[in-house]
Amino acid sequence: MQKRLQPKTFTVSETFDISPNMRRIVLTGEDIRQLPADSAGQYVKLLFTPEGSTDLSTLTEGQRPVMRTFTISEFDAVQGRFSIDFVKHHHGDTVDQMQGGYASHWAMQTQAGDQISIGGPNTIQGLAEDYDWVLIIGDMTALPSIQLKTASLPAEARGYVVLDLHSDADRPALNLPAGVELILRTGDLQTAPSLAERVASLPWLTGKPAIWCACEFSNMRAIRQHLSQQPEFDRKACYISSYWKAGVTEDGHKVIKRDDQENYSG
Ligand SMILES: Cc1cc2nc3c(=O)[nH]c(=O)nc-3n(C[C@H](O)[C@H](O)[C@H](O)COP(=O)(O)OP(=O)(O)OC[C@H]3O[C@@H](n4cnc5c(N)ncnc54)[C@H](O)[C@@H]3O)c2cc1C
Repeated sequence: MQKRLQPKTFTVSETFDISPNMRRIVLTGEDIRQLPADSAGQYVKLLFTPEGSTDLSTLTEGQRPVMRTFTISEFDAVQGRFSIDFVKHHHGDTVDQMQGGYASHWAMQTQAGDQISIGGPNTIQGLAEDYDWVLIIGDMTALPSIQLKTASLPAEARGYVVLDLHSDADRPALNLPAGVELILRTGDLQTAPSLAERVASLPWLTGKPAIWCACEFSNMRAIRQHLSQQPEFDRKACYISSYWKAGVTEDGHKVIKRDDQENYSG
């Protein structure tokens, strides 16, 4: 295994659903001392063997673990525990090497006492600091990050938070400033306007926007296309990222994402 990854190992202390389509896994262990106090909102890599096991002792010399990226949703240095919230994928109960799903499968069946190794954490880019209004967009994979970002918005902030949720019951408790409107896309996702269409239907506000967007790859591209045509859009001041791609494992998504970033000229 690569030395620079420096995996830390944690034990599952609790698992429970925080909403119908989001499972929280609480992790604890001595290695938490190696995580910075501001780890909430940073991303980590969950490590698996090529067969999808969390027992990395079976990796041969030089063999890289399979990595899956997740956000630390809560971090409690005093209690020595932190949480990761996993979106339920609805692929059924089986997992195989071709289909992937190692992380979601692990999260759905893991129990207190199980162990997992993790690399990181690393920082996820935040909102630009100099802005007139905010536009925060995401699907459920970005909810842990969005909850933390919206919690630190100043009282005078204005703009929009646009969320793509599996159901109304997955709506997170957000304490938004009065000037920030929450727009939810839920219900029948076959017939409802897409996340990109919801974003495109919003009146564009005046002044410099701070844009933070993370969602499925195709949605991200459609949203980015729309945003890039708007006044005062400055790509370098925005965070626009895909967190997963329909039909592709994270390993394939990573390659597609890198090509997209290299070829994007907006
Ligand atoms: C910086 C960052 C932070 C992230 N934080 C979180 C987080 O906190 N919580 C979270 O749940 N996800 C998060 N993600 C997304 C997560 O990394 C991907 O969903 C990942 O592909 C899941 O790995 P897996 O092993 O379950 O599935 P993979 O093996 O990667 O994929 C297997 C199959 O599942 C599909 N799939 C993957 N993700 C989803 C999904 N969300 N819904 C439906 N189908 C899916 C794939 O298209 C593929 O067909 C984050 C991603 C990034 C880049």
